[in-house]
Amino acid sequence: MAEQEASGLQVLLRTLQSSSDRESILTILQLLGDLLSGGTDRRIRYMISKGGSEALLQTLVDTARTSSPDYDILLPLFRLLAKVGLRDKKFGQKALELEALDVTLILARKNLCHSQNLLHCLWALRVFAASVTTAAMLGINGAMELLFKVITPYMQKRTRIIRAATEVLAALLKSKSNSRRAVNRGYVVGLLRLHQDWHSHDTANTYVLIRRGLLLCLKHVAALRSGREAFLAAQGMETLFSTTQNCLDDKSLEPVISIVLQILRQCYPKSPLPLVTASSAYAFPVPGSVTSDPPCVLTEEDFEDDGDEEADKDSDSEDVKEEDDDLETDVNKLTSKPGPDRPEEELRQYEAMCLELSCSFEDLESKPGDDLSFEETQYANHHHIPTAASLKRHCLSKDQLSWGQEREDTGRTSLLSTVKMGRSSVHLASGKAPGMNPYQNAQSNGLGIDSSGSEIPDIQAFLNEDAWDIDAMSCPRMSASFSNSTRPRDATEVINKLLQTHPQHIPFHDPCLYMAKARRTRSVADFKMMAFPDLWGHRPPPSAQPMLERKCGIQRIKIFEDIRRLLQPSDIINKVVFSLDEPWPLQDTASDCLRFFSKFESGNLRKAIQVREFEYDLLVNADVNNTQHQQWFYFRVSGMKAAVPYRFNVINCEKPNSQFNYGMQPTLYSVKEALLGRPTWIRMGHEICYYKNHYRQSAAVTGGASGKCYYTLTFAVTFPHDEDVCYLAYHYPYTYSALMTHLDILEKSVNPKQVYFRQEVLCQTLGGNSCPLVTITAMPESKSADHVEQFRQRPYQVITARVHPGESNASWVMKGTLEFLVSSDPVARLLRENFIFKIIPMLNPDGVINGNHRCSLRGEDLNRQWLSPRAHLQPTIYHAKGLLYYLSSIGRSPVVFCDFHGHSQKKNVFLYGCSIKETLWQAESTVGTSTLIEDISYRTLPKILDKLAPAFTMSSCSFLVEKSRASTARVVVWREMGVSRSYTMESSYCGCNQGPYQGLQFGTSELEEMGAMFCLGLLILELKSVSCSHHLLTRAATLLNAEEEALDHYLQRCSSSSSSITSELDDEPACLEEIDYSTDSSSDQEGSFSELDRLIQECAFNKEEGDEEEEGPGQGRKASP
Ligand SMILES: [Zn+2]
Repeated sequence: MAEQEASGLQVLLRTLQSSSDRESILTILQLLGDLLSGGTDRRIRYMISKGGSEALLQTLVDTARTSSPDYDILLPLFRLLAKVGLRDKKFGQKALELEALDVTLILARKNLCHSQNLLHCLWALRVFAASVTTAAMLGINGAMELLFKVITPYMQKRTRIIRAATEVLAALLKSKSNSRRAVNRGYVVGLLRLHQDWHSHDTANTYVLIRRGLLLCLKHVAALRSGREAFLAAQGMETLFSTTQNCLDDKSLEPVISIVLQILRQCYPKSPLPLVTASSAYAFPVPGSVTSDPPCVLTEEDFEDDGDEEADKDSDSEDVKEEDDDLETDVNKLTSKPGPDRPEEELRQYEAMCLELSCSFEDLESKPGDDLSFEETQYANHHHIPTAASLKRHCLSKDQLSWGQEREDTGRTSLLSTVKMGRSSVHLASGKAPGMNPYQNAQSNGLGIDSSGSEIPDIQAFLNEDAWDIDAMSCPRMSASFSNSTRPRDATEVINKLLQTHPQHIPFHDPCLYMAKARRTRSVADFKMMAFPDLWGHRPPPSAQPMLERKCGIQRIKIFEDIRRLLQPSDIINKVVFSLDEPWPLQDTASDCLRFFSKFESGNLRKAIQVREFEYDLLVNADVNNTQHQQWFYFRVSGMKAAVPYRFNVINCEKPNSQFNYGMQPTLYSVKEALLGRPTWIRMGHEICYYKNHYRQSAAVTGGASGKCYYTLTFAVTFPHDEDVCYLAYHYPYTYSALMTHLDILEKSVNPKQVYFRQEVLCQTLGGNSCPLVTITAMPESKSADHVEQFRQRPYQVITARVHPGESNASWVMKGTLEFLVSSDPVARLLRENFIFKIIPMLNPDGVINGNHRCSLRGEDLNRQWLSPRAHLQPTIYHAKGLLYYLSSIGRSPVVFCDFHGHSQKKNVFLYGCSIKETLWQAESTVGTSTLIEDISYRTLPKILDKLAPAFTMSSCSFLVEKSRASTARVVVWREMGVSRSYTMESSYCGCNQGPYQGLQFGTSELEEMGAMFCLGLLILELKSVSCSHHLLTRAATLLNAEEEALDHYLQRCSSSSSSITSELDDEPACLEEIDYSTDSSSDQEGSFSELDRLIQECAFNKEEGDEEEEGPGQGRKASP
């Protein structure tokens, strides 16, 4: 702004304040009006900075206090005040100090019958009330009574005034003291009656904004407990519910319905979960004190409604800029390397886990590389590479080829060639409607002939036959302890017969071996059953599944259904049909309801309640020895009708948001489909949403803190068959027994003359299970000293996974890694010849087995125990860390350490790493980072993976060191072992929003492919490093020729894009529908500045028009005659 203009403005303002001359005041007001109406917000703010607000307020007070106030001055003045006041955060305070509140209220009272004057006063009051403190003061001075008088009783006259008055009232009621006053004066009843009157008379929806204003008043009152009580006592739930039911689809009523929904959710009486105790249904005696709260019985008396917002404070909240104070800014902590957490001599025990360093290979034949002498085993020399691309071939050939041919076919696909195809060759079923049953997409000829061409017996008869009652069977785990004599046949026999009649081949799976492994798996609840999918195996579906498109308004429909339960309880069945807490069997098989079961490995379902004929509330179990972490579920359901949508509501979820709101579906496995030749977990479910519900944890459980909230995951499933046995899970299950089976098969699959594969026990878990440790490398070329030396000198790579049991995606990625590393793929060979892989595929077996989501049997998050693990409390972490310490102590720290995880809030796959500089920079730390020397090599691997792996994205990677993560594997291995490339790899539970998999949910093949690509990334990382041996480069070059410069291509791409594009991908944008209604996120829209601006402008131009002008349809325009 020009200097002259600036000084001119100051002169105007000064003159306005000091002048008592009517004409000059009017001229100045006219000038200011012109100046501001033509200018931008910036000009108004400038005027505020020059004392504009004060000058206008002072003029108002001076003019209003004369014996007969001059409205020719007051009206333009009010318009200016409203305009300026909207943009001046301290306006209310200034008005209060200059005593402008009182004079405005007095003017309003005087003008109750003079619409134009009153309207101007209301605008001024509206901007005063934007400050809660001023609003409270206005309340004390009787503003609410005045406004209430203006808006009651209902009349369709002076609608402009009524609208302005409701808006001021709504603003006033944001003050708690005003709300309290409104409750005491019985305004809740009055407001509800007004709402009803307007609703029934305004059939053309002309006055939506008045109706919305009234509802906003109710909403603010309902923020108080006494307000909610008054609302409930006045039958508010019933009133709002019934007035909205027949107009839910009316778009013009959207502003009304959204507020109604907020009020109904706010006022829905809070109640405890329908559980006897918040702690897990499973308890396990563990050493040491358990960190979580003791079990506590929930009773109605214990339960406290939210008392959190009762503080009688009316202060304006300051805009506090959110700072990330979780970043570690202590340079000493970032740079110092702490000593070992245990005596050096303790490390010697890990020598035994590194036999590769001492083995002399005396019995190795001197003739190297004699592949042909190896007698082929079933899986020997396999080429199985789990990629989405190979899956495509696999499925295309499925009908025509026998399994042998197929394997040959996939055998020709090397990882490098899939890298070339990978990003552009995703097989996506075309024209598939979201929510459609993907089983129908599978190749089914409906003639009872399976894919192998052999006839299969009638499935129905099969399942009904007593001995084949899959529902009851699900494979008794131990016939010895299972004394029920109605199951005469041995499980093995049953399975064998099933396998005979339903031949199947699932790579790296063997039902009989699984059964043997499962018998040795020890669970807290001593599971007697095995889940059919784990036993029978899973084969990926023929095509990738797109994300589910969110149905518009689904959450609203669900919430109204929840409210209907409260208001019309007679329609509700409310029958407990399954519960871990009840010792007696709840399920009478004769009844029509679904049957549930979860007492099997990784199973998690605590209780099922039938709500309506085809609707069930489900509660999942807390982690063992804990009261929280409900998210993972895995259960069996049977007794269904086909083609009927069943609705499931998991009502005790804990996370505040979920990918279920952004296209993710749960997974389903049908036993009938499996027996028809499609043993496949698929994404299933429609009408999915995830939102905050009315259940609260009792304060007694949380130790006095106000009750924790719960969230509902709701989804509908249409089962593929009548009377099927199906399994539903949060994500593709992967049990501990599945891992143990897999490792045995992998071991048998390798040619021991080529592949050094050793499986051993890292330690025993608290639950008495073995935590496996796998070593993979290549056998030395010969037993010559040179070759054995080369063998021993290979650098280490350490990979771990599944410390969080609910993150089964991490296990599928690990499965891909393991299968690739032992494969005959040339890249895998090179990797084996150059590295020793130490892999702990499941850091938390007990958690996985017992269906936990997050913790160990002690109820602890094991990925927060790496700083000082104890051998008897966190054995797997203690020994994993011990092994890494040992490697470090002999100068053999791994090149890369990576811990595989699953991520519930983000899409894609990405890495978290550690960087001092990036952390300090991000925290805007004052510590000079210029003197700090940091090797930026931690960025290389994620950049490589970004180029190689379709699912991976650099843009979600982060290299910040947070205080809250100080005890995670990533940070501890980085700090204490000095491994600069120490990572967490996160895979979304959902899928990708970038790259070739954009819009697709992850299937197991995409996850497994990621595991293989990770390995390729390790090779390329080595090729790019300065220390890379000439020998390896030559070998890689040979491979490169053979693979049509694929590798070259990628190496070039990696190096050419060394300045990475790191446009931060945000986490999900705000959900279209409010998940958490208690956050007042919509309040900003209440006082629509531009709307008030427009009204003022309009009024200034039309001021000569008549007083009784009616407000036009919805928008405040003039009604057409
Ligand atoms: Zn995790």
